[in-house]
Amino acid sequence: MRAATGSLLGLAYGDSLGKPTEFQEYATIVARYGPGGPRQLVGEPALVTDDTQMALAVGEALREATSITPGSLEPVLRRRFLEWAASPENDRAPGMTCLRAIGNLADGRPWARATQADSKGCGANMRVTPVGLMPGLTDDQRAGAAQFQAALTHGHPTGLAASELTAYAVFWLRGGLAPSGLLAALRERCAEQRKVYRGDWLGELWHRPAVTSPEEFIARGWDECAAALDRVAEALAGGDHTGDPCLRTGAGWIAEEALATALYVYLVSPDEPVAVLGRGAASSGDSDSIACLAGAFAGAALGLAAWPADWQTQIEYADRLFRLGRAWD
Ligand SMILES: [Mg+2]
Repeated sequence: MRAATGSLLGLAYGDSLGKPTEFQEYATIVARYGPGGPRQLVGEPALVTDDTQMALAVGEALREATSITPGSLEPVLRRRFLEWAASPENDRAPGMTCLRAIGNLADGRPWARATQADSKGCGANMRVTPVGLMPGLTDDQRAGAAQFQAALTHGHPTGLAASELTAYAVFWLRGGLAPSGLLAALRERCAEQRKVYRGDWLGELWHRPAVTSPEEFIARGWDECAAALDRVAEALAGGDHTGDPCLRTGAGWIAEEALATALYVYLVSPDEPVAVLGRGAASSGDSDSIACLAGAFAGAALGLAAWPADWQTQIEYADRLFRLGRAWD
């Protein structure tokens, strides 16, 4: 079913559909596209944003690294992020946290002194999907790499936990978990991992004023994510899924809300993937990031057949997306 390709394309399609709506009000979006939101790719190629560009950077770094360990992954991720930042195609309204942190990485300093320690912007979460798709990783490698790729730019514990949960959502859906079981599985992960600080990956990142232990540091991240997942459950139980999804589960500018609102728009209709993308893009908040994560979930579960075939040649970076997907399908 080519789940890796389906997930990466879903990510790019959602990103592209959400690109024009990211900075628009919900009423403006609905007036233009109808209540279902945008459902047609526009342009030849249909452009994506930094979300897809950085997801490709992470995915290609994972393939290039000789092993999935902090020592092997760090220099490769650093170089891929620097190449992205310097690229003339880095003109898609990228997040300030990424630009600042990567600017710091450029002078060669250790990543822990480059990262934006207090940022939990969704910029690390929107690019983590490849960590969920790469086959053959141990649980420690998948969780560690998900948090580590976040930590290079976003040092807040909620950014780390949300990235791990996003990677696991993709991984589990691809492995056949029923969407109806996804929220409970993620909620359980929050409880299990609450006191697990991955020191071999994160080093002394936890050292902050007034934080007394690594467990205290990371527990805050898991707790904020757990609260966001509870809001998704409430929103789904509410029954009426019309209107701006950001009013129910958050605008998505921060990591746990991007995860929550993407999960919400996906779980409303997991068997209608194009409707999922439109629902994510028709949102008042960070529409491209919400729709890209929702698309990654739908594609991981349904595979390449989830998407209209003619989009495959229309989407920007189709060659790189297919190359990465083919390696992991
Ligand atoms: Mg973007």
